[in-house]
Amino acid sequence: MITGGCLCGAVRYQSGGQPLVGLRCYCRDCQRASGSTGVPVMIVDKKQFKVTGKTGISAVTGGSGRKAIRHFRPDCGSLLFGTPEVAPEIVTIYVGSLDDPSIFKPAFAQFTRTVPPGTSVAICRNLKPGPHPPDSQAERYPTRIREMIAR
Ligand SMILES: [Zn+2]
Repeated sequence: MITGGCLCGAVRYQSGGQPLVGLRCYCRDCQRASGSTGVPVMIVDKKQFKVTGKTGISAVTGGSGRKAIRHFRPDCGSLLFGTPEVAPEIVTIYVGSLDDPSIFKPAFAQFTRTVPPGTSVAICRNLKPGPHPPDSQAERYPTRIREMIAR
């Protein structure tokens, strides 16, 4: 069972089954939302995902033209997970909110053109070297995720 929650403990979530895929997102929206250089994300099946406690919602139109919905806890400010409109069957858990972040195994990075100078994308063990999707392929995001999940 995958479990996690916010800093103050008011929101808890759990997900059955195995993570579908892990990635690191360096898009500008994730950078701004998190105040960081990028966000590690673990994707799980929405049907198996349950939340207790109330989250705030930030809905921003992403590169696909659809809303990227980020859930956070207003009291403590923790960014918790996302429910992207382009891929309604998944939940994107932000890895820092997991009870055990060591279960995160990133398979690829995306939007690497906007990695700030001095930031190493290789800080992730298990991150496969090789070509990363250019920003122009942002609209392929759900397709790419589904390809990864199918493997
Ligand atoms: Zn992003």
